[in-house]
This record gives sequence, structure tokens and C-alpha cells, in this order.
Amino acid sequence: MSLPQFKLFRPHTVEEAAGFLDKHAKNIRVIAGGTDLIPSMRQKLFEPEYVLDLRGVAAMRGIRPQTDGGVEIGASTTLRAIERSDYLLQRYSALPAAATTVASPVLRNMGTIGGNICLDTRCLWYNQSLTWRKGCGFCIKKDGDLCHVAPGGTKCWAAFSGDTPPALLCLNAEIEIASSVGVRRVTLQNFYTGLGDDYRKLRPNELVTRVFLPASSAGYSGIYRKLRVRGSIDYPLAGVAVVMKRSNGHVVDVRVGLTAVNPAPVLVKGANELMAGKAMTEALAEAVGDLAARTAKPLTTSALTPEYRREMIRVFTKRAVLAAAGN
Ligand SMILES: Cc1cc2nc3c(=O)[nH]c(=O)nc-3n(C[C@H](O)[C@H](O)[C@H](O)COP(=O)(O)OP(=O)(O)OC[C@H]3O[C@@H](n4cnc5c(N)ncnc54)[C@H](O)[C@@H]3O)c2cc1C
Ligand code: SF4
Repeated sequence: MSLPQFKLFRPHTVEEAAGFLDKHAKNIRVIAGGTDLIPSMRQKLFEPEYVLDLRGVAAMRGIRPQTDGGVEIGASTTLRAIERSDYLLQRYSALPAAATTVASPVLRNMGTIGGNICLDTRCLWYNQSLTWRKGCGFCIKKDGDLCHVAPGGTKCWAAFSGDTPPALLCLNAEIEIASSVGVRRVTLQNFYTGLGDDYRKLRPNELVTRVFLPASSAGYSGIYRKLRVRGSIDYPLAGVAVVMKRSNGHVVDVRVGLTAVNPAPVLVKGANELMAGKAMTEALAEAVGDLAARTAKPLTTSALTPEYRREMIRVFTKRAVLAAAGN
């Protein structure tokens, strides 16, 4: 499958990048590592006239501890740099734990945290060649008006399938979004819409420039568990991130995040209320697993049945909270 023709811009500053986005907002795509965008362009899911390459923008790379005890991560920082960062491993271990499961080492050398956050949602009916999709009459997400997964409905249920966002949600991450008119900062939780075909709140003239982790989330034990077909390279079919703080054998604070089972990465509501103040037991871990399984809404967007993926959310959540508690 060949790449469509496009013009490439290579800015060196965020301001320059924002200028290009502003000028060509209607027909431009941002490329960071390109590990998802390039295959998608080959499949003709995107055929932009212009592509904006962020790799020359040095200010968008790097892991920088802040004076307030938090940390700032440039959106173009590679997943490899994140999984190898001693600083993140010591203070925000859920993030490197999730990053290290993305794709394969080669893809993590290229793929970035910004690209992982902005990753397009996935579906068996969508991530296919043009010929394949045409043969099926297309679908709501691109070029068509029906959904093969939920026929009769008007909503796209394509699954958000990035590994790091559930960990980032657990760590209360915020992101900085830049455009030619300035920057805005939003919580990651408010970045996703829950719609498979319009999954993020990002205007065509905006780009994600930085990720912030607050000091208040540092020092939690962090775990990430992931279901995939091929252990060495695949997208998640179900993923669970857990961060936990304990004192005197009791849970003080805990957050559980899910991916690949909804059109957005989500936090499991009620997990902290259920566990805070209690000692971790098998029964408690099972109860959190049940809560997570009720939060997951997998459909036939991905390989493996929805029933199995929901069950694995239950199992992985139980195992992850036990592991986070050192059991
Ligand atoms: C074989 C294979 C296996 C994979 N397995 C996994 C996996 O297990 N887990 C997983 O999470 N991912 C997986 N991926 C997808 C991908 O490698 C990662 O998600 C990676 O982090 C994407 O980052 P990138 O920099 O390459 O993004 P790109 O491909 O450059 O961009 C991805 C999307 O984000 C947008 N974007 C990128 N940066 C920005 C920015 N700063 N601001 C605004 N928009 C931006 C792009 O326009 C594009 O829409 C896999 C890919 C392949 C090919
Ligand atoms: S969930 Fe439906 S509309 Fe969305 S990509 Fe899949 S088939 Fe298309």
C-alpha cells in the first residue's frame, strides 16, 4: 500500500508549528514518531495535503522534574526514553510500566507519548485497506453511514487502544495544548470525548506540547496489566493500570484506569471508595475486579470476544491491585 502524496513541513519551534497548523488547519496532520499515522495513511484512512513533522522541535522532547515536585514530559519524548527513565521509575512507576508494553522496542524508539495520547481509536472494520473497507460499504467513522459493530445505531464505538493513557489518568496527568493564539492546559480526563469517531478535544489548529504529572501523584506503587494476542508487539485488547498508596498495611488512596474496552480510556469510579482504609485481601481485590468489569464496555471492535475481554479486565484488575499492594 503506497503513501498518498503530501507536502512535509519541518518546524523547529512550537510557534512555527502552530503557524503551519493555523494556515493549513483544514488539510494537515501532525506526525511525531509516525508509527500509527504512517500505516493509517497507507490504508488511506488519512490523506492530508500537508504533514507537520514535530521531530525538529527540540523543546517538545525531554523529561524535566519541576521545582514543585512534579514533572513535565515533552509530548515528543519517545516511549523508550520514558520506560528507561530512572526518575519516572522511582516516582511515577505506572507510566514506564505501561510504556514498556507498547508495541515492540523498535516502535518504542520512534513512538512518542504525545502520539500515544492522541492515538486514533481502533476497530476491525476501520483499520483496514481502502479496498477492504470499500468492499464492506465503509462505516460511520470514515466515508460511510452505518456501524457494523452496532448496526442500527448512529454512534461509532471504535476502541481507544493506547497503553499509557490509563496510567496517566491514574496519575492525574494534565496536558498542555498549543495553538497560534497561546496555550491551554487540560486534565487528561477531560481530553477524551467517549466518541469513537471524534475521540479527542483537539481543534485542527492545535497540538499537544507537554504532559504534566503532579507531585501529589509521586511515590504511588504502579502496575499495568495488558491482554494482547502477540506478547511481543500487539495493541491492547484490554488493559488495566493501578496506582496505590498504602500506610500501615492499609490502602490510603488508589486509582484504577482501563483501556481498549471503551472509546476512551477511563478511570473506574468508586474504586477508591471501595478500598480506602482497608487492608488488601483477595475478596477486596475481587470486588474491585467486579467494579472494573462493570465499567468496561467492550464490543466486537477488536480481536477476541467482548465477553472474554471483559472477564480479563476483572482478572487483571484483581491481580493488579494485589500486586500494587505487594501481595
Ligand atoms: C505493529 C504495531 C503495534 C502497535 N502496538 C501498540 C501497542 O501495543 N500499544 C499502543 O499504545 N500503541 C501501539 N501502536 C501504535 C503506536 O506505535 C503507539 O501508539 C505510539 O505511541 C504512537 O506514537 P507516534 O509518535 O508514533 O504517533 P504518530 O503515529 O506520529 O501519531 C499518532 C496520532 O497522534 C497525532 N499526534 C502525534 N503527536 C501529536 C501531538 N503532539 N499533538 C497532536 N497530535 C499528535 C497524529 O496526528 C496521529 O493522529 C502500535 C503500532 C504498530 C504499527
Ligand atoms: S465501531 Fe462501527 S462506526 Fe466505528 S469504526 Fe467500527 S464499524 Fe465503523
